[in-house]
Amino acid sequence: MADLIESDYLVVGAGAAGMTVTDALLSHSDASVTLVDRRHAPGGHWLDAYPFVRLHQPSAFYGVDSVPLGKDAIDRGGLNAGFYELASADELRAYFAHVMQEHFLPTGRVRFFSCSDYVGGEGDRHHFVSRLTGARQEVRVARKLVDTTYLEGSIPATSKPPFEVDEGVQCIPAGEVVHLSERARTFVVIGAGKTAMDTCVWLLTNGVAASSIRWVKPREGWWLNRRFHQPHTLLPDFYAGVGLQFQAMAQATTFDDLFLRLEAAGFLLRVDTAVMPTMLHGAILSEAELALLRQITDVVRLGRVRRIGSQRMVLDGGEVETPADAVHIHCAAAGLARPTPRPIFEPGRLTVQPTMWGFACHQFALLGAAEAMIENDEEKNRLCRPIRYWDQCSDYLSAYMALLAGERARAAHPALAAWARDSRLNPLGRLGEWGNHPSVVETRGLLKKVGAAAVENVTRVLAQRQ
Ligand SMILES: Cc1cc2nc3c(=O)[nH]c(=O)nc-3n(C[C@H](O)[C@H](O)[C@H](O)COP(=O)(O)OP(=O)(O)OC[C@H]3O[C@@H](n4cnc5c(N)ncnc54)[C@H](O)[C@@H]3O)c2cc1C
Repeated sequence: MADLIESDYLVVGAGAAGMTVTDALLSHSDASVTLVDRRHAPGGHWLDAYPFVRLHQPSAFYGVDSVPLGKDAIDRGGLNAGFYELASADELRAYFAHVMQEHFLPTGRVRFFSCSDYVGGEGDRHHFVSRLTGARQEVRVARKLVDTTYLEGSIPATSKPPFEVDEGVQCIPAGEVVHLSERARTFVVIGAGKTAMDTCVWLLTNGVAASSIRWVKPREGWWLNRRFHQPHTLLPDFYAGVGLQFQAMAQATTFDDLFLRLEAAGFLLRVDTAVMPTMLHGAILSEAELALLRQITDVVRLGRVRRIGSQRMVLDGGEVETPADAVHIHCAAAGLARPTPRPIFEPGRLTVQPTMWGFACHQFALLGAAEAMIENDEEKNRLCRPIRYWDQCSDYLSAYMALLAGERARAAHPALAAWARDSRLNPLGRLGEWGNHPSVVETRGLLKKVGAAAVENVTRVLAQRQ
């Protein structure tokens, strides 16, 4: 065993969560941090992501707080034209490596151990083991273990398909489609989430005819319109989107009516307008992507796939013929985990979990800032209450209510309120700079008018639903 490491924090996982919490601890305290990850570099799942993945949100709101991501350029062409840039997987990998090499390690307060499995601990003693040498390392943690793995999701590249595949059937994870050497007659895309949509869009933009794509969708989803999730010069549109949500929340007569109002306002999008979505994962789509996806008409809606045979695909709700010369593309990984929430701040432990509707990195940074700025765990937990990641439509409303309650509580805490105003990851932190913009003035007036009614009505609609 190597010499004992002494560290204020031991962060397990150097994905976006571990990196963002570490950044906040470095910026707002004098703590030392040891990071371990079983992957070979910082960046988490982005290291194994499919090659055509991009952020679905602007780069401006992603990454660690103290190091901007991207150039804040507005795309001039393509499916994101007119909107702020979205980092690719390559850019994200380079970004997190840069943050580690150029910002964290030079402070002398950070140590990073890659290819290392955290294997547990007791009291203040924790252990990790190198995957390369088997060497076991002990760490004495003076303040806390930061666990970013409680909600670790799964992605197609690193998880087996959740269905059987008979011999002779070609089934590949999403990312492998770029390596195909033989022409397929039909591409069968399996999954209803963001990975499946990205794969369909990638195929279509690379010349595959919509008629050569079959899309197996266990569920239909609502997607957020990218128009209302923009930073900087387009921030007034973001705020206008907040107004649209409040208006729909205030006026909805039923649960479904609320979502249909958001669709009518252009805030929510769905690919198939004949099907009422049951899922809302919070992924963001442009209207140009939506138009492409609507070209695919061979859609199988028979629930989840159980088995792909050479002749038939068996699903929960029936069977369909397996097309000849088909390549099946597995986009059906479980995604984000949704275990029962546990307190975020405990003696000796910080368990990263979402606390509100909103962008992931803003939430991670908030937890790091609260840990660094507030003395007592009870107070931190009062200001940052954990919720489950959203999956169903009702989760969006509960998460939105958690956002409002949390913002209200944190506004009364001067240090956190000041942090929120200054954080580049907080979408509306800079709204003050646009205070006189006509659309901002209008939205502010609207929120004043309907704010209280919206909260009351959402509570009623959610209770009805349950
Ligand atoms: C395809 C895709 C696109 C996405 N796009 C966006 C987006 O645009 N915007 C957004 O906000 N969110 C997006 N997300 C959500 C995404 O989950 C978060 O943005 C974020 O990257 C998650 O970071 P994380 O650190 O929580 O998890 P991960 O990236 O999964 O990192 C966790 C790390 O912990 C390590 N680990 C686990 N167990 C151990 C152990 N025992 N020992 C050592 N290391 C361990 C893993 O190796 C991993 O590197 C996307 C997710 C996916 C899958």
